[in-house]
Amino acid sequence: QDRLFGGLKRTSERLSENLGGLFSGGKLDNATLDRIEDALIVSDLGPAMAARIRSRLADEKLDTPGDETALRALIADEIEKVLAPVAKPLDIVAFPRPQVILVVGVNGSGKTTTIAKLAHNFVEQDYGVMLAAGDTFRAAAIGQLKIWADRIGVPIVTGPEGGDAAGLVYDAVKRATAEGIDVLIVDTAGRLHNKRELMDELAKIKRVLGRLNAASPHDVVLVLDATTGQNALTQIETFRELAGITGLVMTKLDGTARGGVLVAAAEKFGLPVHAIGVGETIDDLRPFDPRQLADAIAG
Ligand code: GDP
Repeated sequence: QDRLFGGLKRTSERLSENLGGLFSGGKLDNATLDRIEDALIVSDLGPAMAARIRSRLADEKLDTPGDETALRALIADEIEKVLAPVAKPLDIVAFPRPQVILVVGVNGSGKTTTIAKLAHNFVEQDYGVMLAAGDTFRAAAIGQLKIWADRIGVPIVTGPEGGDAAGLVYDAVKRATAEGIDVLIVDTAGRLHNKRELMDELAKIKRVLGRLNAASPHDVVLVLDATTGQNALTQIETFRELAGITGLVMTKLDGTARGGVLVAAAEKFGLPVHAIGVGETIDDLRPFDPRQLADAIAG
């Protein structure tokens, strides 16, 4: 909790800076309302949210226009309204087992770390977990995931660098099924500079999974780096087209001033948000709690 509030401090500070002075007494005339709306947009909260807050401020004729607390409460309230419908933890529900979670995202987004954190969370809930190193393109990704798997104490299926990812995933599902594994988390390549190739590869993995079990992959989770700000929105669009994503995890919310983009993403796409990353260690994946986040962002 402290970590979350500490982590989002820069996001809320940036919002405060942008709003600075705009709400310090005086009338909320149209010019001031315009400037508040702009301030909310440059704080990454998105144009729709900014427009709504503006119109509520205009309508409600706050008794004390100089009261920044009232403004923050109103912002927190609007943020929570947008976040509440998308809060959805990743539950293990698949029958027959295993549930297959395909994890996608650009290199550097925090994919490997997020897989490790998710695996750790599932192990803590007593589920049998297996990893598949499906990013066969990067030797470093395979090595890194193996290190995490060993540390957490879960089995991992790896193949040679440059090997066929879909074939590896096929082997992993066979092995997971034979071993009675509950959840198989599959890493995938993230080399977006070759979009066509990546799309073909993800499609092939999904085809192979679908042939083994029509409901698989059960989840296609996009990992997004909050520090990329508005780029995160473009990535959602791209991966929706590339991989048909079913939910999001946003990482690196600790220490970035761009955390508002989470709100913009929720508003624009309405995709489930499963969890958020607030640090580099295994315990730094947090449930997505709309109230807490709204308070942390609004400050
Ligand atoms: P990948 O290339 O997408 O697999 O990314 P990695 O999982 O290797 O992560 C890239 C870098 O981001 C690493 O240095 C991670 O430790 C770091 N990282 C991942 N998630 C978080 C997070 O939530 N907060 C912070 N501060 N760093 C993170």
